[in-house]
Amino acid sequence: MSINSKSSKRKNTLENILIIGNGGRENSLAWAIQKNELVKRVYLIPGNAGSERIDKCERIRININNKNELVEKLEFLKIKFIIIGPETPLANGLADFLRKKDYRVFGPGKDGAKLEYSKSWAKKFMQDANIPTAQFWTVNSLEEAKKIINSSSIQLVVKADGLASGKGVFIPNSKDECYRAAKSIFNGKFGSSGDIVVLEEKIQGPEVSVFALCDGNRYVLLPTAQDHKRLNEKDKGPNTGGMGAYSPAPILTKDCLDRIINEIIDPTIDELNKKNIDYRGVIYFGLMITKSGPKVIEYNCRFGDPECQTIMPLMDQNFVFLLEKCSMGNLNGDEKVDISKKVSGCVIATSKGYPQEYETGFPIKIGKIDSNNCQIFDSGTRLNKQGELLTDGGRVLSIVCQDKDFDMVFDRAYKNLRQIDFDGIYYRNDIGHQVRKNFTKEN
Ligand code: AMP
Repeated sequence: MSINSKSSKRKNTLENILIIGNGGRENSLAWAIQKNELVKRVYLIPGNAGSERIDKCERIRININNKNELVEKLEFLKIKFIIIGPETPLANGLADFLRKKDYRVFGPGKDGAKLEYSKSWAKKFMQDANIPTAQFWTVNSLEEAKKIINSSSIQLVVKADGLASGKGVFIPNSKDECYRAAKSIFNGKFGSSGDIVVLEEKIQGPEVSVFALCDGNRYVLLPTAQDHKRLNEKDKGPNTGGMGAYSPAPILTKDCLDRIINEIIDPTIDELNKKNIDYRGVIYFGLMITKSGPKVIEYNCRFGDPECQTIMPLMDQNFVFLLEKCSMGNLNGDEKVDISKKVSGCVIATSKGYPQEYETGFPIKIGKIDSNNCQIFDSGTRLNKQGELLTDGGRVLSIVCQDKDFDMVFDRAYKNLRQIDFDGIYYRNDIGHQVRKNFTKEN
């Protein structure tokens, strides 16, 4: 069903759109929304070298913390609608500031972003709403942590309360490791993000990501996804921002998804309402499917990366209307996004050394790419003065494909990857192993 039947009669507020952020996520959002004919120009602050390869896209080089300059630019470029990609500007209240100035913003205010920027607050939120999650203890000092760790008969996970670029979670194997993790957080490893520590029961099961586009009261679900957080094959090694993903996640049966809606998503929206939080943006539910049912591992207040790059190619040109409707608080409840019947997969190419120390500035060579239902979204790239594409981050490129099944998707994604080279390029060969039928045969 189309959701833009009245679009020709409406005032076009989508002519010029701004996306804030600089990763693969923001490039994939820009790529998805520019498909709509009402969209004339998509600006990215700051974007990256890949942004300008996307039709209708242009980068703006200003600092979003300079609010006067930002508003001047919005006025000058006649931008009415803004999508905020990353969590930090959301946690800093950028959406609130822009809404007060009458812009339409996709992204929650500071109150809603707290679901992500304070893990202790989010745990209490879930407790208040009776939402299934791991048991937890919030501690304010190493002494308090020590007491809980010593007296605990279950294995614990240690988390810094605040934002830590995905690095604030420790999964220790012993009480000693647990104590050392808590100590490193309290000693300032993550600055003030570690003033509070959350100790959590370690739970087990496959992880899935569910995304709800929310207008404050109602929501629309996007296709589900599973990502691979660990650096190395067989899901081993340190946690990263994400090494690849696939969508939809077949592990989520209809029954399981119904349970997630009833036990987790609906109660989350109700609790936000109860707390007078007018949440207009995406809620990312990081879930673990345990033996006793789905449980929330974490909430994020933005799209996941690389899940976003994986899901966006499944959306039709009407997707942008959903984002705008969320920003206006007027989802009707009967919208349907036309979602492709294909499945999608993404593999991330990283710099050698990521997620620890790595060097950047290496030229990227891209050979003959199959671009039929395949995309390359730049995650961390820049151009030098000669216009050469260079590496500029830990995660460098997102290689994405869609096809009838996951074997075809990943065959093609890896074929494209083999056409790409830069000094120290690293990627996992087993992304989507759970859903690739030919994977065990080949490997
Ligand atoms: P987060 O940054 O909160 O997504 O956590 C990073 C990863 O740590 C998750 O994707 C899980 O694999 C793992 N994790 C977080 N919390 C728990 C928990 N309570 N039990 C087991 N694993 C966890």
